[in-house]
Amino acid sequence: MLSIFRKKCAVCKKKAAEPRKYFNEVNKPIVVCEKCVMYAERRAFRKRTA
Ligand SMILES: [Zn+2]
Repeated sequence: MLSIFRKKCAVCKKKAAEPRKYFNEVNKPIVVCEKCVMYAERRAFRKRTA
């Protein structure tokens, strides 16, 4: 839960420099770094706008 606020990438678990917000497959809000955006798109994670 706290990892969201620390802006850690949910895919590579590293600090996300330019975090993108997504929901994962169980509708959990996650943060994905720039490098893992393609992975998130492949996994059909949905973008969060807020
Ligand atoms: Zn990442």
